[in-house]
Amino acid sequence: MLGAETVTNDKSVQSVRGMNDLLPGQVESWQRVEGALREVSRRYGYREIRTPVVERTELFLRSIGEQTDIVEKEMYTFTDNNGESLTLRPEATASCVRAGNEHGLLYNQTQRLWYVGPMFRHERPQKGRYRQFHQFGVEALGWAGPDIEAEIITLGERLWRSLGIQGLSLQINTLGSVTGRGKYRDALRAYLSRHVDALDSDSQRRLERNPLRILDSKDSGTQAVLVEAPSLSDFLEEAEQEEFDRLQQLLTAVDIRFSINPRLVRGLDYYTGFVFEWTTDQLGAQSAICAGGRYDGLSEQLGGHPVPAAGFACGLERLIELLTLQDEETPIQSPGVYLAAFGEVAELDAAQCAERLRDSSIDVQMNCGQGNIKKQLRRADNSGAAIALIVDKETAGTSMVKVKPLRGQGDQTMVSTEELLATVQTYLQKPD
Ligand code: ATP
Ligand code: MG
Repeated sequence: MLGAETVTNDKSVQSVRGMNDLLPGQVESWQRVEGALREVSRRYGYREIRTPVVERTELFLRSIGEQTDIVEKEMYTFTDNNGESLTLRPEATASCVRAGNEHGLLYNQTQRLWYVGPMFRHERPQKGRYRQFHQFGVEALGWAGPDIEAEIITLGERLWRSLGIQGLSLQINTLGSVTGRGKYRDALRAYLSRHVDALDSDSQRRLERNPLRILDSKDSGTQAVLVEAPSLSDFLEEAEQEEFDRLQQLLTAVDIRFSINPRLVRGLDYYTGFVFEWTTDQLGAQSAICAGGRYDGLSEQLGGHPVPAAGFACGLERLIELLTLQDEETPIQSPGVYLAAFGEVAELDAAQCAERLRDSSIDVQMNCGQGNIKKQLRRADNSGAAIALIVDKETAGTSMVKVKPLRGQGDQTMVSTEELLATVQTYLQKPD
């Protein structure tokens, strides 16, 4: 056990770099977004799933892919006391599929799932990029067609709309079938090999085993080489092109605007067909808000039977940053009523009165820590309450309570405890 003597007083303990506290005043925006995403998910028939924050490391090696930024350098991996390698989840898609298989949710069934929660990646912390961050995601398991792809995009768009977020652009692409992608991979490798000196070192390393990942490089030299590179769309088979066309028709039918970016690949290896990304030009370099696509191979990669699947993950820190930038004020939580009590008998009356009001769903903040009436009324004002109720020596032991409006709704009055609830309700209903 830690004794007091083991705590030296050099410096106060700080949070881990890149992992943020969310304080009262900030949490309100989060609750608003969480409320909206819950409601929108329900509107489309998606049900919540909660999986552990810690998973076996193997889950991510087999799903995200060994030659990805996440697995190569971003995972928080540790060995527990049993010698087992565990990892703080860097994303939750693999966990959803694991859980679906483990609990038999994917046998002859389809599942529309959503989740929200913290993810962990050891990246260089900067605005919009943290080591603990939060994602909202949906996973549609068991459907092969473009209809479900259109659905998840539409769901995302409704979420932006319900939050009043504007100016997001949608880019889509398709990675085609395994065969088509194989042919494309060869053509891309051949082209890039001719320009190997102009590529950044990560891309040079990926050239042999995973040249498609180079399309995702943020290096400007590599980007310049890619301008002339062969395009994935030339390698699509007819059926794939038709599916992709159908997706576009479905999006157009519900008025969702998009552009096709033939170089959009995603940073995780499990994507197999259509991919997409919502971006903003208002957050600087951290422009991706939401990204996803089809990942038909993932279930088998994890040892389950084949399950066609599509989903997305949305970064909540970036979404909330956008909300704040776009001046979407979220009201700060404040009580309706502040209850001030002066004197020992008054405190007993006040405690009973507060409980009765709470029984009727009124939010009451009690004055704790005593203080003279002036001090208590200052606290009442700071609490943001609409009215203060005062029980003092004059009213203690009687059935009367003083009611003091705090937001310009008239003068102080005195009411009986029978009338109190109705009086409080009228004040709380009046706009200030
Ligand atoms: P980026 O290109 O910005 O690194 P990514 O491709 O690694 O993003 P995904 O794994 O697709 O991101 O995760 C989906 C979303 O989660 C991103 O679009 C982003 O909004 C958010 N996100 C990813 N990593 C972080 C992070 N370190 N901090 C905050 N948000 C993040
Ligand atoms: Mg990343």
